[in-house]
Amino acid sequence: MAQLYYRYSTMNAGKTLELIKVAYNYEERGKRVLILVPEIDDRFGRGKAVSKAGLEREAVPVSEDTNLLELFLSEAERGQIDCVLLDEGQFLKKHHILELTEIVDSFDTPVMVYGLKNDFKNELFEGSMYLLIYADKIEEIKTICWCGRKATMVARVINDKFVRVGDQIMVGGNESYVSLCRKHYNDGRIGAENTRPSAKNAERAGGSPEISEGEA
Ligand SMILES: [Zn+2]
Repeated sequence: MAQLYYRYSTMNAGKTLELIKVAYNYEERGKRVLILVPEIDDRFGRGKAVSKAGLEREAVPVSEDTNLLELFLSEAERGQIDCVLLDEGQFLKKHHILELTEIVDSFDTPVMVYGLKNDFKNELFEGSMYLLIYADKIEEIKTICWCGRKATMVARVINDKFVRVGDQIMVGGNESYVSLCRKHYNDGRIGAENTRPSAKNAERAGGSPEISEGEA
């Protein structure tokens, strides 16, 4: 019986690298995979799954209106698909998740979705919420905060400042994201250099509290 997998993590945990490894394992055994990625994630060029480690794979772009079941069936006409891999699953809509469940249940094809769970304000993405509800297997890809604890949250950082307000998805922005443990998300310390006011940081930020308070 095929299953719907949701493999989630915070940022920079190697989700895409993991997806590329799974694709490689299938292909090495002569199997065919279909790789999908929501169009919104065009930071590295459309239609590609790109890992931070530099590996990339061609992927079929998915828009808000794409019917994933129809896409699957039309791709399957060109040859049997043994597994569907989807990156950046947080950007999916509810209907996409329901279509994925049909691929699993009606066509007995495993679907593995990689993505974030919570956004930078600690709310679930739409895709993540319905993946949590519908997935057969939910697995966490772990990564750590700068302090060594498990990172469970993602901070949005703009110009070295922890930002707590703004739209869930920032397209074309100059923001970056840092994975943090809950404690350091809550106190706004985005790196070890902010833990104590060293000579260098004292003049710039006066230590950590200022970084979050201004934005909170
Ligand atoms: Zn921490």
